[in-house]
Amino acid sequence: MNDLSRPEWQPDTELVHGGVLRSQFGETSEALFLTQGYVYPSAEAAEARFKGDDPGFVYSRYANPTVAMFEERMRLLEGAEAARGTASGMAAVATALMSIVSAGDHIVAAKALFGSCLYIIEDLLPRFGVAYTLVDGKDLDAWRKAMRENTRAVFLESPTNPTLEIVDIAGVSKIAHEAGALVVVDNVFATPLLQRPLQLGADVVVYSATKHIDGQGRCLAGVVLGTSEFIEKAHTFLKHTGPSLSPFNAWVMLKGLETLPLRVERQTASAARLADLLASHRNVTRTLYPGRKDHPQHELALRQMGSGATMIAFEVKGGKEGAFKVANALRLIKISNNLGDAKSLITHPATTTHQRLTPEVRASLGIGEGMLRLSVGIEAVDDLLADLGRALDAA
Ligand SMILES: *Cc1c(COP(=O)(O)O)cnc(C)c1O
Repeated sequence: MNDLSRPEWQPDTELVHGGVLRSQFGETSEALFLTQGYVYPSAEAAEARFKGDDPGFVYSRYANPTVAMFEERMRLLEGAEAARGTASGMAAVATALMSIVSAGDHIVAAKALFGSCLYIIEDLLPRFGVAYTLVDGKDLDAWRKAMRENTRAVFLESPTNPTLEIVDIAGVSKIAHEAGALVVVDNVFATPLLQRPLQLGADVVVYSATKHIDGQGRCLAGVVLGTSEFIEKAHTFLKHTGPSLSPFNAWVMLKGLETLPLRVERQTASAARLADLLASHRNVTRTLYPGRKDHPQHELALRQMGSGATMIAFEVKGGKEGAFKVANALRLIKISNNLGDAKSLITHPATTTHQRLTPEVRASLGIGEGMLRLSVGIEAVDDLLADLGRALDAA
């Protein structure tokens, strides 16, 4: 598949053409190989396949041509040595961490994490003898102080959900590497187009492809990317435990990747316009958008992502009641906790995605009762501005 004779293309081109495996029929669009297994021409051929002497496919829990196309397209986009698709974003996170740590090891993670990632680090891995320390992701000194002799993995997400704090990936990577730990970045909010964790010094990148990569709210999928050596370990974990990516979902993701740059560009441009509207509205007390100059880490955000990306958080007057009023008054923007979708979606983190946390922990993370998180879609920006403006006026 690695055709070295062809030129290297820009990401937008790789996302349309990269990784294609054409069958004997020469189909234009990527084929969906909805097959669990493969027929061998002879018993000898089957033996060679199982021994690894012949690199062909054996079983779709191990590998599948449609899944391989998605993996190769993601690998090209990320500039990684290797990639493996997974059944969901959480399968990618679990696979990455399970491929690094063993009993007796220690993980350092930012405390502002996607809820299920926190579950793996705080509840699941400690049952198998893996200790952890959670730190304020913005504070490089806190990362430095948390490192121990047995720290093997560092896990972070940037921008964070839902408060859109920026973690300095290059800074944290330097600290982690000095301590001998691998850096895993959950790059969902930034998208692979705006932020390149491997180039910033990280070792492993994980995605929930369910979000911007599908971009049309259809399927769950994930992907883990890193060195060939690391992905070999991830592959062993996946093929024996089973959270492998289904060929159908991989096919949906392949088609999603083709339009990812168009969507992210539109979503980012619209997010900037919507953030400005929010920041100037009398019913909004705080607007968090990394692309605005008033974001406390605006410069770091520009250095790391080049723009403010597609997500906004804001706090309205009147706490939970005020936030519910605004959400309920929207007509175009839908109430849903997905993100990165073509449709603009709004959610109230305190009562949905972050309901599991105590009010004290929420407050310490900066998640107020009046906070709403907006995932900006690809609708005409004037319609979005009108919908949001009207809902805020009515609150
Ligand atoms: C959604 C999400 C996940 C989990 O992905 P699934 O595909 O839902 O399993 C992990 N991390 C972040 C930041 C997410 O937004």
